[in-house]
Amino acid sequence: MKGRIEIDRERCKGCGLCITVCPKKQIEISEDLNTKGYYPARFKEEHVRDLKIVKCTACSLCAVTCPDVAIDVYRESKDESEETTDDPKEG
Ligand code: SF4
Ligand code: SF4
Repeated sequence: MKGRIEIDRERCKGCGLCITVCPKKQIEISEDLNTKGYYPARFKEEHVRDLKIVKCTACSLCAVTCPDVAIDVYRESKDESEETTDDPKEG
C-alpha cells in the first residue's frame, strides 16, 4: 500500500512526534515558519507522484500520534480515482 500525507502547517506546532514515529522517515521539519511562529513538519514526498518511489505506506502512525490532529493520510493505488482518506478528524 502506498500513501501520502498532508500536514496542515498552520495547525502544526513543530513538536516532531510524527517525525519520531514514522517508520519510513518521510517527515522532516520545514525551514519556513508558520504564522504562529513554529517550524511545522513537512512531508518529504509531497511532490512525488511516481508510486514506484513512494515510501509512505499510509500506516497512519503519524496522524494518530499528532496531538494537534494536523495530519491527513491518503491511500493511493495505481488508479488515483481509488484514493481513500483516513481522516481522524472525521472519525
Ligand atoms: S503514514 Fe506512516 S509511512 Fe506515511 S508519513 Fe505517516 S508514519 Fe510515515
Ligand atoms: S506531530 Fe503534529 S504538531 Fe507535532 S510536528 Fe508532527 S504534524 Fe506538527
